[in-house]
Amino acid sequence: MKKILVTGGFGFLGSHLVELLLSDTDNQVHVVDNLSTNPVPIDDLLSQLDYPDRISHSITDVENFCDSWSGERYKEIYHLASVVGPAGVLPHAGRIAASIVNDTMAVANLAMSCGARLVDVSTSEVYGGGQDGFCSETMFKVVPAKSSARLEYAVGKLAAETALLNLSGTRDLDLRIVRPFNVTGPRQSGRGGFVLPRFIGQAIAGVDITVFGDGKQVRAFTHVKDMVAGIVCAMKNGKKGEVYNLGNPANRCSILELAEEVKRITRTRSRIVFVDPTTIYGPLYEEANNKFPDASKAIAELGWEPRYGRNQAIEDTFLYMKGLPERLLFHLRGF
Ligand code: UDP
Repeated sequence: MKKILVTGGFGFLGSHLVELLLSDTDNQVHVVDNLSTNPVPIDDLLSQLDYPDRISHSITDVENFCDSWSGERYKEIYHLASVVGPAGVLPHAGRIAASIVNDTMAVANLAMSCGARLVDVSTSEVYGGGQDGFCSETMFKVVPAKSSARLEYAVGKLAAETALLNLSGTRDLDLRIVRPFNVTGPRQSGRGGFVLPRFIGQAIAGVDITVFGDGKQVRAFTHVKDMVAGIVCAMKNGKKGEVYNLGNPANRCSILELAEEVKRITRTRSRIVFVDPTTIYGPLYEEANNKFPDASKAIAELGWEPRYGRNQAIEDTFLYMKGLPERLLFHLRGF
């Protein structure tokens, strides 16, 4: 049995990763999660898993868990635990960067203690918008002259990445880093501000679909199934000390186009309206720059390729959300 640790394994992305890992009967997974950031409904998840005997969990902070290491020798560690979302980060302003760096360093120490390979799940936010939205691993990261919760998140993730890369270079940390671009799909919560579950929740409820600003902002949405496959490929095939963008450039679109596609696929009678997001989330809400990935490095080196189109992500999320009981739908739609 291969023992694998997943931090944040009860979040949206983590829960899909755990499912994929358990589909390999050689894997045994331990999840550490403090349930602070939109956890998926755990009882429902655990009852749906095909292999409940190969999953265990600790409901606690990552730092606590790592500092009281039991001596268990994990072969692989996936570090996903983090505050997330343009709205989700706001209540944590002032503590975002510290928590990201402290948790990540604790995970790195644990990985070195057990001789585990570590995949750190960072963020495309570190690019700050790249060059007119195009983001490649070889680019400089730009830190603008301002402060905000969103910037604290990006800078915290970048600081953690930089420290990990230094440990990989000097202290033999067996590391790979991935930077996801706008992952979306079933179980994502609109409560952190994420756009697709918000739009679909609005479409199901028959209320206005709220496009922020003029809707011309560009993103490249990546189906969660592609994303977790890429994360596992980074663990298996990634090179030590390398950073990989994970995203689907072919799914690039404006947010207005996304809203129109949601309207068509869900056949809702909701109207599309243009709103100022600060009227919903307050003055601290910040829009990200346009962003879409250069994913060629991951495709060339990881034996991975994104397969799902944008409409598949919309359809799968719609199918999931419309089948939910009201208590869970309310939990996900976030408006
Ligand atoms: N967005 C929107 N309406 C909403 C929620 C989000 O128009 O109700 C926009 C948001 O302004 C952003 C895009 O959707 O431009 C993607 O937002 P998300 O939070 O999913 O990702 P991020 O901004 O972090 O890339």
